[in-house]
Amino acid sequence: MERPRPLCATAVASIVMGLLLVVVAGCADAREPIPMPTASAPSASATSTPSPTPTPTPTPTFDATRLSIDDPASLWVVVNKLRPLNPTDYAPSDIVRVPVPYANEPFLRQEAADAVVALFAAAEAEAGLRLQAQSAYRSFAVQVRVYNGIVASRGQEYANVRSARPGHSEHQTGLAIDISSIPSVCALDPCFGDTEHGRWLAANAHRFGFHLRYQPGMTGITGYSYEPWHFRYVGVELATELHETGVRSLEEFFGLPAAPTYAE
Ligand SMILES: [Zn+2]
Repeated sequence: MERPRPLCATAVASIVMGLLLVVVAGCADAREPIPMPTASAPSASATSTPSPTPTPTPTPTFDATRLSIDDPASLWVVVNKLRPLNPTDYAPSDIVRVPVPYANEPFLRQEAADAVVALFAAAEAEAGLRLQAQSAYRSFAVQVRVYNGIVASRGQEYANVRSARPGHSEHQTGLAIDISSIPSVCALDPCFGDTEHGRWLAANAHRFGFHLRYQPGMTGITGYSYEPWHFRYVGVELATELHETGVRSLEEFFGLPAAPTYAE
């Protein structure tokens, strides 16, 4: 894996250990690797060659060091293709069942689970929109089985772009959830972003602590193409800061290297 691959996001359904698991992974998109903005080198982007977006800046008063981005149990942990969880077989200690409608029975860490309940309730109360959990917590062991199954059937290279490697998935933190609509339309498909449900989520999820983790045109930084269904719980403070300042990735917000693909 030395360069992004021109493939699109996809969903792979796999029956593992009697469970129907829907495994989703974005993949690299070679069209537009985006240079990593750096705080120390403010470019004259307004006057130079085409710049995707001006580099947003965090609110000066926001303390971006308040929580760890390395501790797997931190609400701010940053996991990507260059930052595996440490330890890679990390398992949260406070996983609970999330009492919401679902396509696959959802489990998350307690705080994220409470936030999902509030988020779904607000969507229905404020906009008359029904939501369901498509996929939430996936343990290291489950991810190993899924990933190895794909490697066995389709090969390593295919698996690398279609499924997160064990230890590298945000779903293993117990803080990430894939959301779909009821009735299900465009589930796990980029067209979900154009649905009323997808638009409401993009505009409101931050109020409940969720960050739209894989935004369009960010493959060169996050390593994943647009996933309008994947939300990462980071707490209301950080989610709101990201939303209001327009910073579109945790990598940029915390000044981390771009992670378009695995190091290997
Ligand atoms: Zn996801």
